[in-house]
Amino acid sequence: MEDFERQMQFVFQLRSRGVTNSDVLKAMEATKREPFVEGIFQDRSFEDTPLPISCGQTISQPTVVGLMTQALEVTHRCKVLEIGTGSGYQAAILSHLARRVYSVERHQRLARTARELLMRLGRHNITVVHGDGSLGLPEQAPFDRILLTAAAEDPPRTLTDQLRMGGIMVLPVGQSHSIQTLIKITRSESGLDYTELGSVRFVPLVEGVAHDVLD
Ligand code: SAH
Repeated sequence: MEDFERQMQFVFQLRSRGVTNSDVLKAMEATKREPFVEGIFQDRSFEDTPLPISCGQTISQPTVVGLMTQALEVTHRCKVLEIGTGSGYQAAILSHLARRVYSVERHQRLARTARELLMRLGRHNITVVHGDGSLGLPEQAPFDRILLTAAAEDPPRTLTDQLRMGGIMVLPVGQSHSIQTLIKITRSESGLDYTELGSVRFVPLVEGVAHDVLD
């Protein structure tokens, strides 16, 4: 199949699975997944499935990336924080929709690879930080939007505190290795409002930076 046919099918699949926001679809069309996937898995980059990346992590399923991005309601004025850079794919999509994206990754090797790739792709409004995302990024807070792409057992208070009034946070919540629930939190004067968006499966949010031998 030609690349453009595969791309058409990719977008069709996103739409049929609920990603209908035209800005989100445009951002996803503009962000080819292939460079974010390594080696033998590149051939499968158009499939709507999670794929392995280095450090034992995964690049998320495109439909899930689309649904989370859509739920985050990002506008051009937004300063966005992503926790869990992984391959950098989600950050690249966010960078088309937001003014500025900060993305935190606990594996140094992933942070470095993603930073280099995003630069090469010309995504200049993203800053990749190597660190423990469970602490957020206090020096850049508050954020208009916060997205977690790793599952927390509960919404971390440290992160909701870094959300601007009227801001939105989307995250998977639940025990690792079981079904988790995707949650949308809106911060208002009266507190935090929670909406459940469906079931997902993510790698766990792990506290502290990783100490990899190869880092
Ligand atoms: N958004 C990524 C996929 C994320 S996989 C993409 O588009 O490819 C989840 C990532 O969260 C992993 O890379 C994992 O290392 C990272 N992670 C887990 N706990 C973390 C923490 N406390 N701080 C920062 N990153 C974390």
